[in-house]
Amino acid sequence: MSQERSQKSGFETRAIHAGYEPDPTTGAVIPPIYATSTYKQDGVGGLRGGYEYSRSANPTRTALEGALAALEEGERGFAFASGLAAEDTLVRALCRPGDHVVIPDDAYGGTYRLFDKVERAWGLEYSPAPVSDIDAVRAAIRPGDTTMVWLETPTNPLLNVGDIEALAAVAHDAGALLVVDNTFASPYLQQPLTLGADVVVHSTTKYVGGHSDVVGGALVVRDLEVAQQVAFHQNAMGAVAGPFDAFLTHRGLKTLGVRMDRHCDNAERLVEFLSAHRAVSQVIYPGLPEHPGHEVASRQMKRYGGMVSFRVAAGEERALAVCGATEVFTLGESLGGVESLIEHPGRMTHASVAGTDLEVPADLVRLSVGIESVEDLIADLDRALG
Ligand SMILES: *Cc1c(COP(=O)(O)O)cnc(C)c1O
Repeated sequence: MSQERSQKSGFETRAIHAGYEPDPTTGAVIPPIYATSTYKQDGVGGLRGGYEYSRSANPTRTALEGALAALEEGERGFAFASGLAAEDTLVRALCRPGDHVVIPDDAYGGTYRLFDKVERAWGLEYSPAPVSDIDAVRAAIRPGDTTMVWLETPTNPLLNVGDIEALAAVAHDAGALLVVDNTFASPYLQQPLTLGADVVVHSTTKYVGGHSDVVGGALVVRDLEVAQQVAFHQNAMGAVAGPFDAFLTHRGLKTLGVRMDRHCDNAERLVEFLSAHRAVSQVIYPGLPEHPGHEVASRQMKRYGGMVSFRVAAGEERALAVCGATEVFTLGESLGGVESLIEHPGRMTHASVAGTDLEVPADLVRLSVGIESVEDLIADLDRALG
């Protein structure tokens, strides 16, 4: 689809058509998996379409990158081998040893580990701040040294919400960029670049891929200068998405809109069910009016997503038992796939933060609500809650 048409089209049209024109020689409607490392040149330096070596560019990856850029309404998209590979590439593209970044105090565990164990050894300092507290983020910034404010919204697993527009202003006032990890919302529910963010990060392993069959990551950037820095580092560091992974991720991306609507429908029904259940002491979901981030989420999200957390009234042992007792919900880490998952953050995804300020309640259960028949999901939880 031409770039001009693509900019005017609706989300689902862009998801299906942006980034790729049917192949001129065969008419293939879907980008082929270009399993090639190198490309024949028409005389020295005579590249066809700019392709010379698949670390630098590969047409299957190019198609995915174009689609991601169109959905996030950015200047350019970049696909990586994983979400963390995308993050590391971004940090090294935009920061230098001695710089400082502000990260969420409840950042995704792998992101926290990347800053704490890898980037810190490289000379980058970080300060954690709660995403829902604009003054706390402002106070954590060190003007002159802070190059990036890193935001996740909603966060994992407590679903805290950060105000993208307000935090972009706070970051920009201090000469820093605002980076938003948009994995939980997906570009269907939230487009941070349109709210002032400079870079969007995705673990495409989650909702974008959507089928739990591929690990991947992405960056989408708003302006050309940042795009050039990221493009250079993507090639220089080399943590790119391979053509098979790019194909699967792109295939998933085409149905993101319909999947997200069903994830949200099912999550809303489960929230209603859980809120009325006497074995549940609290339901955490940004769509609930009593959620502290509800007003901001209503402003910046189309709907409230497929992640739901709840606390089990009888405590940790009972919460663990519930996680082990479901049959439709699969006990497992990760999120964003068509299948529903259940997990105990305190013992699973967030075990590494036990005993720190980031510790999560022991009676907490996290659901990644899938797109199965909602009656089956409700019956499954009802049975497990006993
Ligand atoms: C999974 C996840 C990541 C890391 O992505 P990988 O693809 O596992 O490397 C980063 N941020 C969030 C919010 C995630 O859920």
